[in-house]
Amino acid sequence: MPHMQQALLAWFATHKRPLPWRVSYTPYEVWISEIMLQQTQMERGVVYFRRWMERFPNIATLAAADEETVLRYWEGLGYYSRARHVLAAARRIRDMHGGVFPARLEDIRALPGVGPYTAGAVASIAFGERLPCVDANVERVVSRLFDVDGPVKQEPAAGTIRAWALRLVPENHVREHNQAMMELGALVCRKKPRCGECPLARYCVSLHLGITDQRPVPGKKAVITPVTAVTGVLVCAGRIFVQKRLPGAVWANLWEFPGGRVEQGERPQEAIVREYMEETGFAVRVVATYGLIRHGYTTYRLRLHCFGLEFADAPALQPPAPPVLTAATQYQWVLPQGLQDLAMPAAHRKLADRIYTTL
Ligand code: SF4
Repeated sequence: MPHMQQALLAWFATHKRPLPWRVSYTPYEVWISEIMLQQTQMERGVVYFRRWMERFPNIATLAAADEETVLRYWEGLGYYSRARHVLAAARRIRDMHGGVFPARLEDIRALPGVGPYTAGAVASIAFGERLPCVDANVERVVSRLFDVDGPVKQEPAAGTIRAWALRLVPENHVREHNQAMMELGALVCRKKPRCGECPLARYCVSLHLGITDQRPVPGKKAVITPVTAVTGVLVCAGRIFVQKRLPGAVWANLWEFPGGRVEQGERPQEAIVREYMEETGFAVRVVATYGLIRHGYTTYRLRLHCFGLEFADAPALQPPAPPVLTAATQYQWVLPQGLQDLAMPAAHRKLADRIYTTL
């Protein structure tokens, strides 16, 4: 193992990408980067990370922020429960740890939204604790290096990978080692591995067996469900109606244009009129179409028909009555430029950007 470890560390020293959380390795930065990079491409993660650190440079500023602001800075990354957990964790650190990020693994693990992977990543990368970080990149590297022949997300293969990953971690340079493993998976041991550039090629069992294309063994593919939905931009006296989604629902507490699924046999134009009545009590009519927005989520693929709306009775100078909200906790009538300040789900943000120039 020492030769492997040294080869890996030497490779990392010359090939690592200059990422913003690799400068001072503060626990706060390591933690935020790890949470942000889950399900997020690196380039995108870097942009969000820099923006985040400008607004919330430390735990104190984050803990003092309101949820609305935090969601706005998270918008576009999806999985908004992560943002809410990050805020709750910052407040817990402020209230229970004097504002100092805890160093003990069990204290890190007790923070909201911190699972075994993230806790291990922070403990090892920020505090040097001898633990492996097994993300999807490391899973791929280890399964190929040691020819793990079962689906990597399931036991017993997952346990085998954790055990090999732990054995690989050296006594010293834990931080660099774990970063190097992840970097090797991201840059060299990719889906199509570049074994000719790999510092571990001489140790790699699946390379020697000629089966790198069969490792890692995939699990069952998630079923992606197509969903057809509608949403509408109701304009009255130059202002746009938006509502804040219910807590506990998908996209909780984000702002949206009302809408919902198209029912069987229903035309999208009919669906939006029905949905508006159900969600707000407003009788509306369609006056424009804003096209189709497609957006992919983890388990479904959304086709969102978008419409411009006005009150059905007549173009009113002011809303005829307050809405009766059934799918939201709050509402507001905003100027088009006010949409930029609201945290919205990705598909609704696309629509907001689309209409911004036309209203
Ligand atoms: S030799 Fe190839 S398959 Fe093996 S770890 Fe390196 S890049 Fe991955």
